[in-house]
Amino acid sequence: MEGNRENKNVIIGWGLAGAVLSWQLYFENRTFSVFDSLSNHTTRVAAGMVNPIVFKRLTKSWNADLLLPAAQKFYTRIEQELSVKLISHKSIYRVFASIEEENNWNSKEGDDRFSAYLTTPNKEELPDEKFVNYPFGIGKVNTFGNLDTNKFLDASKAFFLEKGLEFYDEVFDYNTINDSARFFFCEGMGVKQNPLFSDLPFKPTHGETLMIETSDLKFLHTLNRNMFLTHVEGNKYNVGATYNWELDKPITTEEGKQNLVERLAAFTNFDYKIVAHLAGIRPNVKDRRPLLGIHSTQKNAIVFNGLGAKGVMIAPYYANQLLNHVFNDDALDPEVNIERFHN
Ligand SMILES: Cc1cc2nc3c(=O)[nH]c(=O)nc-3n(C[C@H](O)[C@H](O)[C@H](O)COP(=O)(O)OP(=O)(O)OC[C@H]3O[C@@H](n4cnc5c(N)ncnc54)[C@H](O)[C@@H]3O)c2cc1C
Repeated sequence: MEGNRENKNVIIGWGLAGAVLSWQLYFENRTFSVFDSLSNHTTRVAAGMVNPIVFKRLTKSWNADLLLPAAQKFYTRIEQELSVKLISHKSIYRVFASIEEENNWNSKEGDDRFSAYLTTPNKEELPDEKFVNYPFGIGKVNTFGNLDTNKFLDASKAFFLEKGLEFYDEVFDYNTINDSARFFFCEGMGVKQNPLFSDLPFKPTHGETLMIETSDLKFLHTLNRNMFLTHVEGNKYNVGATYNWELDKPITTEEGKQNLVERLAAFTNFDYKIVAHLAGIRPNVKDRRPLLGIHSTQKNAIVFNGLGAKGVMIAPYYANQLLNHVFNDDALDPEVNIERFHN
């Protein structure tokens, strides 16, 4: 990188966690190098949605009021730095399954804690009833949109390479850890091979998506009905996702594909062609909170992981908090600090 050639920070993993952390280091004028093995690369299959709501219980997603604005500010800044469009502005339209769900939604819409997120869409915004069934109506979630996660990784890498980043396309060798640098482990499920952090209580969650093409739908936002259907570009839509706790490799399965096809058919009716089928392992944690912190004895080994199913929204705020912890000794939220598992 430009300026100080001394490479004191090493990032292991160029997924969402590693790339977001790199930007936060860059904003603090700190140099870094990167290792990435291109193994399980969950970020490359993510739909990139930012959803502040948990539909099952119709509550706010954990820390949404804090995380969502931080994420919006962060990715907007990156778009400006890169002069590349990374966010496609979309809302999420929830297709109600029952009259109860609709009533519940209407009452929460009037509640101050939810009114910024939950609204009732105008008729003109709704999808064509020929193609989507919504006898109980549709609610709308305001959010800033979807991050193009692949573009984010690739454009950020190109930007930093231009500035002289040393990027090693290789598996990091843990035997090379020495005292002359700080090592930020952002390995997603690769952490299972990491002798320093492999004991953290992950609950890896396999997920599959389909990329489909249809000339029928023409709906440029996201639909949700126990699954998502989100517009990507042109006639392309991303459909997902499955949750499977048995599979520990990012492989696609016929069962996963069938599951998605059936769930899609349960609330839509249009012709489409499947053009891609993807899989990844979400780095979920048993208590469903991220994993941040400094190793208890190897003080220059730092972990940033456990971003789970909502990494796009979580990563910016907590990457910043982690760096403040490492460099300024500021406290980490106890809820995300790995120390919660060492008491
Ligand atoms: C089907 C699916 C859909 C999803 N949709 C969304 C969504 O819409 N919105 C959302 O917010 N989140 C979504 N997610 C979750 C999101 O993908 C994750 O939160 C996020 O990608 C995790 O990023 P990460 O950087 O921790 O891991 P990864 O993206 O897996 O990156 C880890 C990187 O580290 C590298 N690595 C590991 N070990 C080593 C080593 N020893 N040496 C060198 N490199 C190493 C790997 O090769 C990899 O590139 C989805 C996940 C799945 C599976």
